[in-house]
Amino acid sequence: MKILVLNCGSSSLKYQLIDMEDESVLAKGLCERIGIDGSKLTHRPAGKANFELETPMPDHKRAVELVMDALLDKEHGVIGSADEIGAIGHRVLHGGKEITQSCVVTPHVKDVIRECFDLGPLHNPANLIGIEACEAAMPGKKNVAVFDTSFGMGMEPKAYRYAIPDKYYDEYGVRRYGFHGTSHDFVSHEALKYLGLDPEKGKVIVCHLGNGASISASIGGVCVDTSMGLTPLEGLIMGTRSGDVDAAVVQYITNKEGWTVDDTLNMLNKQSGMLALTGVSSDFRDIEAAINEGNEKARIGMEAYVHRLVKYIGAYNTILKGADAIAFTAGVGENGPLVRRMVCEYLEFLGVKIDEEENKKAYGKQVVLSTEDSSIKIAVIPTNEELAIARDTLRLI
Ligand code: ADP
Repeated sequence: MKILVLNCGSSSLKYQLIDMEDESVLAKGLCERIGIDGSKLTHRPAGKANFELETPMPDHKRAVELVMDALLDKEHGVIGSADEIGAIGHRVLHGGKEITQSCVVTPHVKDVIRECFDLGPLHNPANLIGIEACEAAMPGKKNVAVFDTSFGMGMEPKAYRYAIPDKYYDEYGVRRYGFHGTSHDFVSHEALKYLGLDPEKGKVIVCHLGNGASISASIGGVCVDTSMGLTPLEGLIMGTRSGDVDAAVVQYITNKEGWTVDDTLNMLNKQSGMLALTGVSSDFRDIEAAINEGNEKARIGMEAYVHRLVKYIGAYNTILKGADAIAFTAGVGENGPLVRRMVCEYLEFLGVKIDEEENKKAYGKQVVLSTEDSSIKIAVIPTNEELAIARDTLRLI
């Protein structure tokens, strides 16, 4: 069975076709600038030359048609007929209070995705368009929605409720949801298996450090707490997002600048985080290069990033009453020896020890960094959200 995985953004569409016999990727690619001038498809078939096509894509429906054309093409295609695709798995950002797990798309599921447009204004509309584009392009095929918020639905009220009047939870669904859920779910379960921990009781902290960054605590793969909140803005310092700030900062800056609240939130989401703190970039490769050249602001930015991260690790280690393992994942977690070393140095007082030679060599591969006598196991576990979506899709159909 082959599963097509789609991740639709407001103007982009990422896809992978996965053969579930051996979980190999047959092809992957990206449609960029959908609905804008200069739309482009980049198609990467396994074992064949890459293919690029610049052609107008007025909407996601056209993008899905072009993806199907690329997958079926005689030269750079990887399947002979659309019938080979068993189902389509969609990444969906927000499922609100109602949806707690992945599900086959029905009219009701589409209604829920629509009702959550306010909670995920950039992603949910695009996700729904992607689903409807597939329904139109491949009638009769099952579509499965895999929600970024599902993992966080495992939390108890003591972790997900904000300390504000009930009305806002009851009427508007204001609570901690948590995002990157597919990744936290995948990596926490991989960590349990890879590190030989009890599948029911193993306590794992996952640090998902990409452009967006979040951290979770789980027991037996069930979420106990996670750092992102109603939206992905809360928690860790990220590439361009501030993470935690005093909510009154929003009012203060809005008034001072004569802005709207939306303007201020835009600044907190897009012009803050490491970009603002370092004055260099949101990309850790640029930040590390600047630190190596003696850039003091970049060094302080990196210290602030690690400070926030270890603050959360400390809190989650306590909530778990002692973690068994900490897993690093996503772009920085998988490829950033400096951040991993700085974090683990803070944890030495707890008895955490890592092999720095292993840490320096660990780029994008699954590896244990901790020594035998470390009190907590430390590992790099590459995330694979597409595979997680494909597995859920296969399970549900
Ligand atoms: P997202 O999926 O959230 O866009 P990724 O998980 O792809 O993000 O992570 C992107 C980040 O990974 C980049 O901003 C970059 O800082 C970091 N990254 C990638 N490669 C390296 C590397 N070799 N060293 C340090 N950081 C890296």
